[in-house]
Amino acid sequence: MPMSEAFRARLFSKLETVADHYGTPFHIYDETGLRETGRYLIDAFSKTESFREYFAVKALPNPRILEIMKDMGFGFDCSSIPELLLSRQIGARSEDIMFTSNNTSPAEFLVAAADGGCILNLDDISLVPKVPEMPELICFRYNPGPRRTGNDIIGNPIESKYGVSHDQLIGAYEAAAQRGAKRFGLHTMLVSNELNYEYMVQTAQMLMEQVEKIFKSLNITIEFINIGGGLGIPYKPEDDPLSVAAMAEVITKELKRFKEKQGYEPKLLLESGRYMAGPHGVLVVKAINHKDTYRKYIGVDACMSSLMRPAIYGAYHHIDVLGKDATSPVSPVDVVGSLCENNDKFAIQRLLPEIIEGDILIIHDTGAHGHSMGFNYNGRLRPKELLLRTDGTVELIRREETVEDHFATLNFEPDVFKP
Ligand SMILES: *Cc1c(COP(=O)(O)O)cnc(C)c1O
Repeated sequence: MPMSEAFRARLFSKLETVADHYGTPFHIYDETGLRETGRYLIDAFSKTESFREYFAVKALPNPRILEIMKDMGFGFDCSSIPELLLSRQIGARSEDIMFTSNNTSPAEFLVAAADGGCILNLDDISLVPKVPEMPELICFRYNPGPRRTGNDIIGNPIESKYGVSHDQLIGAYEAAAQRGAKRFGLHTMLVSNELNYEYMVQTAQMLMEQVEKIFKSLNITIEFINIGGGLGIPYKPEDDPLSVAAMAEVITKELKRFKEKQGYEPKLLLESGRYMAGPHGVLVVKAINHKDTYRKYIGVDACMSSLMRPAIYGAYHHIDVLGKDATSPVSPVDVVGSLCENNDKFAIQRLLPEIIEGDILIIHDTGAHGHSMGFNYNGRLRPKELLLRTDGTVELIRREETVEDHFATLNFEPDVFKP
């Protein structure tokens, strides 16, 4: 099931007045749902000695949302400097932040080290000598290459630009230790939107094997393993949800088994973005045009600047029409935006109730990699973001972009140079 029945009940009764007050389009997020999923994750892993979710900031980089994550005790997985700065802006410091960059620049290392630093997660062995000052705690991202197949979305690890290769891993820890690192972690990220929990179990097992190997070779103790993000959500009504409880149970057992052999249990880190936030946001748009040519089209007041996933991944996002029964007379339509790209479609040949101009459409599961992935091609601007608080109030947490924002980089001091 996409969007939960509970979120639907909380939102739909007041959606018309919210849309009147703020104007469409907007993404709206559900604080209650975010907190329920957060608590569920914590409960699922409660039998491990130490578990922490590092919310993947790129999924939903809004300070009001990050504050909710921080309030639940979560850290932040950042893959760029702006994401890191946003996390620090809401008070995250040092080991609250995991900085997983790749192709990292010297300037990025400097910001990462400033202001209390972070957990630096290095993407390559060649970066060890490039870290300006080796921190006490260092982590490496591991790429197992042909040892794992990855899943369909993220692809084959051999073709992936990320991570330290299998044969370089020991050397990487050795080099970091020689430069003064004293504490160590191990990270990987191999799947995306995966609904089969076995993948994550295998990932945890794989990391534990590497931890043993690193200890045997170098006498280095890895204090945490980070199994990455990539936990999937059911975008389609017929998808079975990922069983996080089953996944956590098996991984917990594996950790206990590791402890029996090695004498300690490494901390378990997860950096989920989609699973945490995806189902707890929707994009609300209004039908503004109808077109009946070779196909029937419904034109809405948002476009792929608000949600890229259908266009770039062919992703399915479930759609409801406010106040209309999904089982009532249906006809296949393409739901389209106004960008000059024919892939600017939220749905293709979708069976929806009869839609008239002014109807409100709810596009599900936009809480992760929705607004944040939007772009400005064609001068199309990104919409506002709202938060439905647990107390029933609605808060504007990001205003919509304006034409002035869009032209801001055209305002500068003249600089003409004749080389
Ligand atoms: C994108 C990303 C994540 C989050 O992925 P989800 O699919 O949203 O869970 C976690 N870790 C890293 C390194 C990433 O790049």
